[in-house]
Amino acid sequence: MVDGFSVGARAEAVSEIAASRRYFSKKTIEDIDVKGKRVLVRVDFNVPLDNGRVADDSRIRAALPTINYLRHQQARIILCSHLGRPKGQFDPAFSLKPVGERLSELLNTKVKVMDKTINGDVKKVAENLRAGEIMLLENLRFNKGEAENDPEFARKLAELGDVYVDDAFGAAHRSHASTVGVANYLPGASGLLLEKEVSVLKKLIEAPNRPFMACLGGNKISDKIGVINQLLDIVDGIVAGGGMCFTFLKAKGYEIGNSIVEEDQVGLASEIIKKAEENEVALYLPIDLVAAPEISKSANYKVVSAKKVPEDWLGLDIGPATIEIYNQALESAKTIFWNGPMGVFEIPQFSRGTKAVANAITEATRHGSLSIVGGGDSLAALKMFGLVDRVSFASTGGGASLKILEGTALPGVEVLEDR
Ligand code: ADP
Ligand code: MG
Repeated sequence: MVDGFSVGARAEAVSEIAASRRYFSKKTIEDIDVKGKRVLVRVDFNVPLDNGRVADDSRIRAALPTINYLRHQQARIILCSHLGRPKGQFDPAFSLKPVGERLSELLNTKVKVMDKTINGDVKKVAENLRAGEIMLLENLRFNKGEAENDPEFARKLAELGDVYVDDAFGAAHRSHASTVGVANYLPGASGLLLEKEVSVLKKLIEAPNRPFMACLGGNKISDKIGVINQLLDIVDGIVAGGGMCFTFLKAKGYEIGNSIVEEDQVGLASEIIKKAEENEVALYLPIDLVAAPEISKSANYKVVSAKKVPEDWLGLDIGPATIEIYNQALESAKTIFWNGPMGVFEIPQFSRGTKAVANAITEATRHGSLSIVGGGDSLAALKMFGLVDRVSFASTGGGASLKILEGTALPGVEVLEDR
């Protein structure tokens, strides 16, 4: 099934995810009357395009439960989304046309794809929509007012509908006209995807089954420092890898060669290491690494001690001894949150660490653990390994999921009506 509640997850995890709904305090489309109404739905159709075609339709599929529910309720559906960063003006490379075509295919029905967001005949088409019909507005970010949360732009958007529904989890951490401003003019409720994303992540923070392990990697520690800090109060252990672990290794006084490091974060990394000790959180750092003189497919590479990366070389993956330790640490976890690849997984000789933790996580999931993956590149890695259906839940929003784990409220969720 495509419904995210059941994607590749075992029965326990599915019911656990369904039960996590009680961690969501906002009205959803199931709590309001949408019959026959014009429903303005903010979705996250920010998908990769390739030669004018949708290269990965996961985000479109993720919005289908909400769209189908609304169709079933005979609502008149007005979809809006951003795609890329077109800088407030029309740019054909960021048109939502290909998305509209893919959506029509997936729904097996004609979606009215507009060439304007609020202008032209958009308002007329919206007014004349029949029950169950769907239209898709052109890219919100072709208008400066979107990112500036301009009240006038928000009001014009709101004019198109009777009710506002937010299902764009991936954009819920942004205060834009379509995620925040519009709720000043229309009553707002959550779509099914937004509800599920927020619920699952809130459950992780508030009532995780233990042991709870986090697996953290990726390239920048500064992006993730807030999350790491927060996680230190919740998790039982963290396995760390990727580019960000070198700031920790440097803090421990190791020689990291030319590996990527954020010098200004080394002090903070020391504090995190100390906080982990105080909180009795097991913080695992690599003991060996795969290193190379450059990041390239043709680079020669070797396994080195994490204490001593050769001068002018870079650590590009966790090494085999580290993989073994991380496997064991993840094996017995009942809850796992994964964000950030363990190495430069895009290059085969540096992808083993990422593949190994992906395997360990899917294995734990098979034995009944709840596994949540957040982050665009982590998800891309899972897809590359063909494992995306074997985790309990893959979040569609990288930035937004990290915000929730940091304990920060999402503006796009805050503006919706309470239950
Ligand atoms: P996510 O999108 O899952 O949150 P990030 O964007 O933080 O992950 O990081 C992903 C990137 O980190 C990948 O492009 C990967 O190549 C890079 N990366 C991982 N390990 C290293 C490393 N040791 N050195 C340099 N880059 C790395
Ligand atoms: Mg990324």
